[in-house]
Amino acid sequence: MNLSENFTLEELTASETAARHGIDNSPPISLDVNMRHLADGLEAVRVLLGNKPIHINSGYRCAELNKLVGGQPKSAHTLGLAADIICPEFGPPRKVCQAIQKSALGYEQCILEFNAWCHIAFAAPGLFAKRENLIIDSGGARAWA
Ligand SMILES: [Zn+2]
Repeated sequence: MNLSENFTLEELTASETAARHGIDNSPPISLDVNMRHLADGLEAVRVLLGNKPIHINSGYRCAELNKLVGGQPKSAHTLGLAADIICPEFGPPRKVCQAIQKSALGYEQCILEFNAWCHIAFAAPGLFAKRENLIIDSGGARAWA
């Protein structure tokens, strides 16, 4: 099911870990609005990255899945408001993060994680987006330098 022109519910909920553990990672209907908000935000990121295909490593995570993958308990992934993305045709994750940070996009958090993917989170519809930029690696989390 398409949530937006280029993003489907399937790709924003797919998880090998969930499949392996027999977890149903379907978001509750109450998160519909957030899932669509996330897809709309990703559309804006896609335009920013020259309309190159964005690959979703991880989107929505139910609480059980989030725990299994070691996510923060209050992770925006559990609210359907975050995705871990890569866009190889645009460039490495660092370049993706830099493009997002330079834009006027109203995102909540942009995190370069382990130099391997970009975690992009959006504020819930109608809420102020704080545009926080972080780097997370084996040394922990720090502000973008
Ligand atoms: Zn993430």
